[in-house]
Amino acid sequence: MTPLYEGKAKRLWATDNPDTLRMEFKDDATAFDGKKKAQFENKGRLNNAISTLIYGMLEKEGIPTHFVRQIDDTNVEVHKVEILKVEVIVRNLAAGSFSRRTGIAEGHVFSRPVVEFSYKSDELGDPLINDDYIREMGLATPEELAHLRKSALKVNELLCAFFAKCGLNLVDFKLEFGRLATDPSVIVLADEISPDGCRLWDLKTGEKMDKDRFRRDLGNVMEAYEEVLGRVRQNLA
Ligand code: ADP
Ligand code: UDP
Repeated sequence: MTPLYEGKAKRLWATDNPDTLRMEFKDDATAFDGKKKAQFENKGRLNNAISTLIYGMLEKEGIPTHFVRQIDDTNVEVHKVEILKVEVIVRNLAAGSFSRRTGIAEGHVFSRPVVEFSYKSDELGDPLINDDYIREMGLATPEELAHLRKSALKVNELLCAFFAKCGLNLVDFKLEFGRLATDPSVIVLADEISPDGCRLWDLKTGEKMDKDRFRRDLGNVMEAYEEVLGRVRQNLA
């Protein structure tokens, strides 16, 4: 069997249902547009577990997502969507590319969340774009874009509050959205929410508990993901 799609961290497979897909989380990790690569035993299992619990929490709070059910340790069934080629990044504190671009030090706390968009294109390195680019590139309609921004801010509120209960500071994160294959007028949250696509800092110690441990060679990468999963589990119980 060959997957319908093989990405850097996941594979997509067909299911018996034409409207759903099986999304498999791999142990592969990449950073810097795929230039840095490694494998971490259990990463697929940990991200699947974290993402599944977070999606459950978001669904309960009224956020529509692609999630259908967890199949096993590394696989979930999801509604098939047409992914919008717009990555939505929400930032509560300065870090990463924001700090590089502006010179504002990592850890600076924003007065309000910063929402930014990038064009989902591996070849171009996911460049920063704005509302006008999105309109002219035909990536989303103005109505869809307004919906993305509003949903992302709502997800940020819910995630900030939840991660704070877990003793984690949600610094920033990336979301993907898609149009449902069965009804393209409906946009749902897709892809994953895990330490691969979120910056999480321990509220007490400031320790990084996310993919920056891999990007910056800080060590104990899977130990941090395991700790995040433990805290997420505990606080959903
Ligand atoms: P990348 O494509 O950036 O290497 P991944 O390895 O995470 O990323 O691959 C997963 C791919 O699946 C991503 O391109 C993502 O946009 C896409 N995807 C996520 N959820 C869905 C869904 N419900 N339906 C269709 N595609 C999806
Ligand atoms: N992010 C992601 N995928 C991307 C780009 C960013 O998951 O293709 C996440 C990243 O993990 C971080 C947030 O989005 O939590 C903001 O990333 P930033 O632009 O600072 O990325 P960097 O250049 O530091 O990788």
